[in-house]
Amino acid sequence: MLPILSAVVFVSAASAYSFMRDEAGNALSWAEPDAFLYLNPSNDQGIPEDEVQDAFIAAVAAWNGSGADIRLHDEGNHDLAESAVDQVNLIWFDSAWPQDPTLVAKASVYAQNATIVAADIALNTADFSFTTGEDADRMDLQSVLTHELGHLLGLDHSEDAEATMFATTELGETSKRSLRPDDQNGLQKLYPEPGTVACNSGAVGSRGLAGVLLGLLALVSRRKR
Ligand SMILES: [Zn+2]
Repeated sequence: MLPILSAVVFVSAASAYSFMRDEAGNALSWAEPDAFLYLNPSNDQGIPEDEVQDAFIAAVAAWNGSGADIRLHDEGNHDLAESAVDQVNLIWFDSAWPQDPTLVAKASVYAQNATIVAADIALNTADFSFTTGEDADRMDLQSVLTHELGHLLGLDHSEDAEATMFATTELGETSKRSLRPDDQNGLQKLYPEPGTVACNSGAVGSRGLAGVLLGLLALVSRRKR
């Protein structure tokens, strides 16, 4: 950046994160500081179910350690395998995947009056192979889950290329397993700890709109530098 003569340039702390919003522009969030999740670890990837569970638990722990007033809870396994507005907020593997084949995963977030009422995460095993190891030719399950859980919490994509909530990933990428300050700042802004002074965009006046917003993670080929 070039300095500007005799001008004071304020460079605000870069907030590259963004929030999922309804059609009225209000940021989506869970009403209670607890969100309850179920996992269907059954998969056609040859990944042992306990390894799927471990990746899921680690992804949950990453967000629960972000210093925000929201907790994800592992409610155990479920045999459902579909996304729906119900009491089962489900993470599951979709081997049919009738949608865009470039999408690695999809978080469906259902909201009413900007309050999230249900959410599901589907993993695209029709077009991608997942791994819980360090396989450079597969998608890292824990990284993808951590990204999608960010959507489930109400975060949209970040412009910070290092952030877990950056919009794209690549085969073998494991860096999204752990959050960056931008991810943590975003969640803290959305769910301030009691007693902290914050300026959240108000949800006053939002209309009774029930909608689904999709958080997507796409594959890109980035040139190695
Ligand atoms: Zn995404």
